[in-house]
Amino acid sequence: MDKSKFGKRYEGKVAIVTASTQGIGFSIAERLGLEGASVVVSSRKQNNVDEAVEKLKAQGIEVLGVVCHVSNKQQRKNLIDKTVQKYGKIDVVVSNAAANPSIDDILQTQESVLDKLWEINVKSSILILQDAAPHLQKGSSVVIISSFTAYQPPATMAMYGVTKTALLGLTKALAAEMAPNTRVNCVAPGFVPTSFAAFLTTNDAIRKEIEQRTLLNRLGTTQDMAAATAFLASDDASYITAEILVVAGGMPSRL
Ligand code: NAP
Repeated sequence: MDKSKFGKRYEGKVAIVTASTQGIGFSIAERLGLEGASVVVSSRKQNNVDEAVEKLKAQGIEVLGVVCHVSNKQQRKNLIDKTVQKYGKIDVVVSNAAANPSIDDILQTQESVLDKLWEINVKSSILILQDAAPHLQKGSSVVIISSFTAYQPPATMAMYGVTKTALLGLTKALAAEMAPNTRVNCVAPGFVPTSFAAFLTTNDAIRKEIEQRTLLNRLGTTQDMAAATAFLASDDASYITAEILVVAGGMPSRL
């Protein structure tokens, strides 16, 4: 990837990306930072935050790192407070955190697991935006990371898929509520070989089967997801809101 080819669409902008110390979230923070944004990275573990900050700084990116488990009220508030203290405003929020704690059928899933899925995958996205909303600028943008599984939740990830379906509805509802000052869009990734998807993508047979389900005959990369997010959150997409962009190599999603 030739990073020098990136534009500078984010100069003067401040972007928060949740769950951004590795995987898709990290690549989104990196992309926005390389395009000129001041980026705020966060996740549950301080050492992961420190490591991500160092990697981004080494690329000349202006970055702040804050520990934030998205289901912790105090840590969510701290993430927003620290951002505003340091940069004075928020232009972009990317809500990227998710859990997938179970492969059980929905009717076999324990209530505690249902609660965790709802809390991390859906409720925390809402609560972080409640905290961020007073600081969002005119022309600001929210991107919610869903999944292609939102359209047809697969058996092994059924309840996770259902929470991702809820995020499509949340995108539409928040886009109406936050218009016209803030646009709200959604990226629905296909399979990307991160630690989140490792149980699928590190098995050669499953990996091959997934690749064959795409039209482009490969898995997605974290950079593919970052490019789509960077487009939707930028002024290039200034007439796009309440939309879902599926980035899944042509895997079946919706018409
Ligand atoms: P990943 O590589 O496993 O990265 C997860 C990141 O989230 C890490 O930085 C982790 O750091 C942080 N994290 C985990 N739980 C958190 C929490 N409760 N609060 C705050 N941070 C947390 O995951 P990924 O594959 O990039 O997934 C990112 C998003 O893409 C998720 O919403 C996922 O549903 C979606 N997605 C992924 C795929 C795929 O194939 N990979 C496909 C469709 C959708 P700490 O351990 O330090 O917290």
